[in-house]
Amino acid sequence: MKASVSPVLEVKDLTKDFPIKKGLLGRTAGHVHAVDGISFSIGESETLGLVGESGCGKSTAGKLILKLIEPTAGEIRLSGQRIDGLGYETMRARRRTMQVVFQDPYSSLNPRMRARDIVAEPLRNFEALLESEIDTRVAELFENVGLRRDQLSRFPHEFSGGQRQRLVIARALAVRPKLIVCDEPVSALDVSVQAQVINLLIDLQREFGVAYLFIAHDLAVVEHISHRVAVMYLGRIVELAGKESLFAGPQHPYTEALLSAVPVPDPTIKPSRIILQGDVPSPIKPPSGCHFHTRCPYAFERCRVERPVMRETKPDHFAACHLRDGAAA
Ligand code: SF4
Repeated sequence: MKASVSPVLEVKDLTKDFPIKKGLLGRTAGHVHAVDGISFSIGESETLGLVGESGCGKSTAGKLILKLIEPTAGEIRLSGQRIDGLGYETMRARRRTMQVVFQDPYSSLNPRMRARDIVAEPLRNFEALLESEIDTRVAELFENVGLRRDQLSRFPHEFSGGQRQRLVIARALAVRPKLIVCDEPVSALDVSVQAQVINLLIDLQREFGVAYLFIAHDLAVVEHISHRVAVMYLGRIVELAGKESLFAGPQHPYTEALLSAVPVPDPTIKPSRIILQGDVPSPIKPPSGCHFHTRCPYAFERCRVERPVMRETKPDHFAACHLRDGAAA
């Protein structure tokens, strides 16, 4: 599962279990298996979309990569160097190569700071620049993200939602990161503004060569921005492929069901939606074998006992399903 260009980010068997504490003594009564051995890589100027239903572990995966939480097991490499297990101080210097854009721009901006200072902050933290140089860089970044110079001295509440997200993107880009983790960056915005922000991210990627891990539940948005897409279900990646291959011919029944729910803009095409039965099982006690077997319309006996492994089912197209390993019968 290698990216087409040299990887900026490599994740191998990444796992996160959260203990469930009970009683006065804080006894561990079980674990939430939030991320269950995921592996992928992202190359320079590449966008990997990470999709799945709410609670599938995609945002936890983003937090692990950003080192906001520590993994239970697995490896994270940034530009070839392992960062899992690095302490706060060692990691601090590397933080500039990896930035984040969260869903809610308002809560990720300090309401008492002026826009200019918000964008200047990472430059002050990571680069030894004169104030005049910082002013120049901030003005350039404002231009890059489509904000005006007369907005430099405004506070976050004086911007619209889309403009605030542009401000967050300017701050993320300030120290020229190699990777930006975008965690549902447009889902809090109006649909018309979503398209503008997505197109801005695409333009900035062309200009700066930055890679994105784009975490989202909206497949139409993911299709627009991603080069490759990874689909998660209950903590595992079940399918990983180039965007065209995945959307034209999904290899995993879960991806098939997700894609069937995407609205088709052509009224002459009759949608054939696959309705999944039952709820998403609890990550505290996920189903045995293939996690998806309790809802999969094609499940058979082997699915209940054996975990399917990721296999290349088409060139550069990987899926974890017993139906695709040539030994289903
Ligand atoms: Fe369905 Fe079995 Fe494939 Fe899982 S392994 S997706 S249950 S057919």
